[in-house]
Amino acid sequence: MSTLLIKNGEIITAMDRCRSDVYIQEGRIAAIGTDLDVSAERVIDAAGHYLLPGGIDVHTHFDMPFMGEVSADDFESGTAAGIAGGTTSIIDYVVPAKEQSLLEALETWKAKAKNAVADYGFHMAVTWYSDQVAREMQVCVEEEGIPSFKAFLAYKDAIMVNDEELFSMLKASRELGALIMAHCENGEIISELQEKFFTEGGTEPVYHALSRPSYAEGESAFRLTQMARSLGVPAYFVHMSCRESTKVLVEGRAEGIDLYGETCPQYLLLDDTVYEQPDFRGAAYVMSPPIRPKGHAEALWGAIRSGQIQVVGTDHCPFNLKGQKEMGREDFRKIPNGAAGIEDRLKLLYTYGVLQKRITLQQLVAVTSTNPAQIFGMYPRKGTIAIGSDADIVIWQPKGEGTISAETHFHKVDTSIFEGMKTEGGPAVVIAAGRVQFENGKLDVEPGAGRYLPRWLNT
Ligand SMILES: [Zn+2]
Repeated sequence: MSTLLIKNGEIITAMDRCRSDVYIQEGRIAAIGTDLDVSAERVIDAAGHYLLPGGIDVHTHFDMPFMGEVSADDFESGTAAGIAGGTTSIIDYVVPAKEQSLLEALETWKAKAKNAVADYGFHMAVTWYSDQVAREMQVCVEEEGIPSFKAFLAYKDAIMVNDEELFSMLKASRELGALIMAHCENGEIISELQEKFFTEGGTEPVYHALSRPSYAEGESAFRLTQMARSLGVPAYFVHMSCRESTKVLVEGRAEGIDLYGETCPQYLLLDDTVYEQPDFRGAAYVMSPPIRPKGHAEALWGAIRSGQIQVVGTDHCPFNLKGQKEMGREDFRKIPNGAAGIEDRLKLLYTYGVLQKRITLQQLVAVTSTNPAQIFGMYPRKGTIAIGSDADIVIWQPKGEGTISAETHFHKVDTSIFEGMKTEGGPAVVIAAGRVQFENGKLDVEPGAGRYLPRWLNT
């Protein structure tokens, strides 16, 4: 029987902190207590370290075909980079083409995920609507353990849904007890501005940001909120980037609408001056929504602190500058959207959130692990350190300087949007499914060891 004992660490959960030993047996937490009197195959002394529940990133796009390219990290390299950064579970998006069967797309994604090294689940994107889609949504919820569906309110003429389709999704979610998530940006406004800038000769990456103003995000968050309100269903805003959508979230919640919010490190830590980098380097930051002007991040931090934003994911969807982002050198509209972040998320939130006193250590655990597990139906198997939970534990060293760089990261992409940023502290040892998978800066992962996580919501 495989056993592991972690001694003298300080357990941090979203609610509590206490110094304790943790005993792991067959991939699960079997005992927690002071001076546990058990024998184990391996004993790790974690004195002076925090024990955090393994991170959960509920927003990834591994091996994702988008804008004529495929994202650079597949399920193996993406989940491995996650482990190196203390993230031990992910939820990725199945994105069917318009008119494609949801279940057929799901089979494609299941095949892609076969080599995952860490546990994974799926959200299902709904990019069109019909009776068939409605039936397949039911199969997703009842048979596949996929109770969360995403609508894109941006990407006109590609995967955007219109109001009627969105409303139908929300109605279906009421019947199914499912959660509708949305990429909130108004696709009509964006399409118009893209066309205008391009015909005026604006081809560089900066026009990506200029054509996606924050009010377009606010508009679409508001529209979704009022639709959800009229039906009495919950809604979840993915990757919130700005003041306007934060205001919609906060006001909607104050009015009793069941809203959840997610943001990502890039929106908390960067500002739109990144697009001014010369030699097309601004393309590395082309993602949607774009990085916002200074000031928006403070609204997001405030909403995390007050519990209005519950989740920090990454929207991990990297494309190489060479050979992929380059597709849009002459036309910003053709730059594949997305960047990497799964490995950096915890370190960045610890360094720039906890150590700079924007959030507490417990809030860090809440937004990176506990809340996502609860919202998406994985708790208490995931998201906490408790007897019976999966043994996904990060032994976190509170001190130790680092620098983020594409030269050293585990992401399979040639750039980092956090290049040169200093970090403090980080994972010393990462245990996933009861096994040490990262230690002394080195990965020891098994392709295919990741397990599928069916999820069931208690709504
Ligand atoms: Zn995304």
